Order: sequence, then C-alpha cells, then structure tokens
Amino acid sequence: MNPTPIALALCLLALPDTPPPGSGLAPDHAFFGPATPSEVPNPNTPQACAARRARVASEIGTGVLAIAAGGDVEGRFQADALFHWLTGVSTPDTVLLLEIAEGAITRERLYLPERDPGFERWNGARPAPGADSEARFGIAETAPLGQWRDDLGVLLEEEDRPYVHGELIQDHLIELAGEGDRLQRPASRLLRKVAAVRELPEQAAIHAAVDMTQQALAEAFRVVRPGNWEFQAEAAIEGGYRSRGAFGPSFPSIVGSGPNSCYLHYRSNERQFQAGDLVVMDVGARYANYCADVTRTIPVSGTFTERQREVYDAVWAASIASAATLKPGSSMNEAHRTAKAVLDERGFGSYFIHSVGHGLGLYVHDDPGGRKALEPGMVVTIEPGVYIADEELGVRIENDWLITEDGAVCLSDELPSDPDALLAFLAEVRGE
Ligand code: ZN
Ligand code: ZN
Repeated sequence: MNPTPIALALCLLALPDTPPPGSGLAPDHAFFGPATPSEVPNPNTPQACAARRARVASEIGTGVLAIAAGGDVEGRFQADALFHWLTGVSTPDTVLLLEIAEGAITRERLYLPERDPGFERWNGARPAPGADSEARFGIAETAPLGQWRDDLGVLLEEEDRPYVHGELIQDHLIELAGEGDRLQRPASRLLRKVAAVRELPEQAAIHAAVDMTQQALAEAFRVVRPGNWEFQAEAAIEGGYRSRGAFGPSFPSIVGSGPNSCYLHYRSNERQFQAGDLVVMDVGARYANYCADVTRTIPVSGTFTERQREVYDAVWAASIASAATLKPGSSMNEAHRTAKAVLDERGFGSYFIHSVGHGLGLYVHDDPGGRKALEPGMVVTIEPGVYIADEELGVRIENDWLITEDGAVCLSDELPSDPDALLAFLAEVRGE
C-alpha cells in the first residue's frame, strides 16, 4: 500500500461544504461539488518532460526520434498524448526531433509555427520559435515549423530508420520511401512502455480524472428514472466533466439501458429508460491529458430483480477476485484468468466476452496489457462483464486501480460498486 499519492489527490480534491448554486445537488453530501483543476498540480512541467525525454533516450540508445503533436481539427485542439507527455506543448502541427547517442540526447529541436499576428488576433496567442518558448518549455532549441522536413532529411543521411510517432511525419517518410515504409520505426510502443509507470503528479492527475468521473456518474444516477432518456444521463456525465475542468470525455460515453446494456460499444444513447431496466454506464473524463474509465450498472427501478442480482453478484465477485491478483510481477492475463474462473464457476463464463481490463493513463487503452509484468505506479482497469442478450440483461463493473509496492489501491471506490452499497447510494442521491 502506498497511500501518498492517493492521500495527496484526495486532499487536493477536498470539496467545499456547499454545492454550487443551482446545482440541485444534495447539499450535505461531501461527494458532490466541483473538483477545482487549479488545485491539482501540473504533471507536465518542463522539468518532468525533460526527464521523460532523457528516459526515452536511454531506452532508444542511439538513433533519431521524430514526433508530431497532431493536426488541428474542429473544436478544441488536443495534442497527441505522447507528444504532450514529452514536451508539455499543445500547439497543432508542431514537431519534436531528438538526436540520441549512447543513451543520451545530443540535440533536441521543437518546431513551432512562426508568429502570425493575423491568426493570433482571431484565435489567441500561441507559442512561437525563440528564446521565450525555449524557456517556457525547457527545450534546448526551437525552430520555425517549415524547417523540420529539411532537418530530418539531413539526419536521414546518417540514420535510415528513425523512430516516428504521428501521421504528419509518417506520411512524409512514406512519401520519401515510396511504397514500402521501411524508412521508419513506429515509436508508440516504446514510448508507451516508458510512460507506463506513472509519476506521482501523473497519478494525482489520473485520480483527479477518476474523481471527476465518479462525481459526474453520481449526478447521472439522479437522472436514471423511468421515462427519462439515456441522453439525459449522458448530458449529466459530460456536463459534469466540463464543469469540473476536464477537457471532456476520454472516449464516447456509453449509457446503455435494457437491451442496450448488452452492446459493449453502444453509444447512440437515445433510448427511454423503463422500469425494470438495467443501465450500464461506461464513461471517463480526460483531465490534463490523462484518462479515467469507470463503469457502473444500476437498476432504473432502484432495486434489482432476483435474476439481475444473481448476475450482478457474479460480476462483483469476479471483479473482487480479479483485482485481488493485482500486484507487482502479476499481469493483466492473470487478472483475466481469475475473473473468468469465477464467472465459469457461477455459470456465466460464456457471457464474458472481453478481456478483464487494460492499462489506463495517456490513452484509455494503454500499457500495461497481456503478459507484461505489473509495476508500482502503473494504473489499470478491472472490468468483468456478463451480457445475456436474450434476457436484455448486461452487467459490467469497472474500477481503476493503481499498482503499489505490495498490491493495488482502487481509485474509483468513492462511487460504490458493491451491490448493497451501490443501491443505498443510488437511493440516497435520488432522494428515495
Ligand atoms: Zn470502460
Ligand atoms: Zn475499460
């Protein structure tokens, strides 16, 4: 047990006594209220990003890494998670080139768009090449965006297989190489591996994303009533994220009721809740570029039928047993085998059709997965589920776990998933 980051995140997210005016939330429930993002330390300081680049260099040994932020799209820009992890920069179309020899960076250059007063007049200030950006991001050299192709071309005279991440660079190298894309090595596996052990401020940021998700889900519980609609729960969840300072959802929110509880990636969220339905809500906020991923299954009527309870209890037992395997040296495969054995024993094994969980962090599905040995500081999900389509009965329970020195701690246990505690909480927040 390593309570430091958890205690830190919890106290940072200590909530005010009264909810925001007009929120309509239970005033005496400490669980509700805004988690103020300014109270969560920035995990992507220039020092942290520099240390990450050094770790990547030592993993690469000798070579070139070229990585791009991703292009601008409609809406708010969000930089590629690995680019942001390495640079702390979130400006569209920017590029980072690292030259690496014997495990150390010999030259680093960040390519930024040049000053454009007309553009910035409409869209706001953005970082430009020069000393200001070098100091702000702690990156040795900056250069105008237009130069990266030429500079990479010079590096390619010595290095014929650079590590590459980002479509902008991949496409450029495919063009240079012709049909085959032998001119590059995908860097994302290597980068995800180096990033998989989360630093303490990253753990706090993930915990903040998880807390926002739990609070938003609790608000959605109030909306899940006969006659209301799936999209109303979705709106409560996504509004709950944004009002707490999250970027938004880290993946399309799933609110599946009745028959839709059995569709794993259901996302149209347009059915009307009916008494007797189960509702699977699989959702997660993205905050400071870190993802949460939490699932709760609740009965629209506020109580389970006998059959629903039987299935819920089996999934709950699988989730407890599976999470109990989490510790350094174990693996997600081990967690999966354990969940499957519990569900097999209870006769539901054939309805468990996905893997029990995945790494969580920069991406919703991140390292570590499969056989990879778990290490302290990694974050994973445990999410067994049973889907009996003939009975329109789907149950999934998903919690997020931080691996510690001697086991794991649950980051998402303030929103109960134990069946009795869940029903009591549901009644409380719905004022029943
Ligand atoms: Zn999920
Ligand atoms: Zn998941």
